[in-house]
Amino acid sequence: MLRIGLGYDLHRLAAGKKLVLGGVEIPSDLGCIAHSDGDALVHALIDALVSPCNMGDVGRLFPDTDERYRGASSIELLEAVMKTFPAGTKILSIDSVIVLDHPKLLPYIQPMKERLGKVLAVSPAAIGIKGKTSEALKLYSVECWVNVLMETEA
Ligand code: MG
Repeated sequence: MLRIGLGYDLHRLAAGKKLVLGGVEIPSDLGCIAHSDGDALVHALIDALVSPCNMGDVGRLFPDTDERYRGASSIELLEAVMKTFPAGTKILSIDSVIVLDHPKLLPYIQPMKERLGKVLAVSPAAIGIKGKTSEALKLYSVECWVNVLMETEA
């Protein structure tokens, strides 16, 4: 069966925090306020993967009230999620949008595709990641949308 997933996530940004997107740390004067490492791209991706398969959502799988996930590496959470999919599940295509004004994401797009591709067992060429600015309307947030097309046996 073909399944289409949609994920969205948003985090507030503040000085003195790390900015991690797609499992890649990006040098920035602003980073995410979050219980985990605040990787909004990976959080949206987890939602896009599990939601169409009736496997919950990122908030239910990894509650921000659970001390085990304080400062957690979101890419490690994604690795854990991938182990829960039934054998025969194939990710065919991913596309995403990151809304962030600063810094410019272009130098980090390919490293993000490679990091995610490894975890998802998908070619980096099948992963789309686009950076957009908010035209200075959202200077203190990062927002991500992710679409996933996948094939499952049942
Ligand atoms: Mg999040």
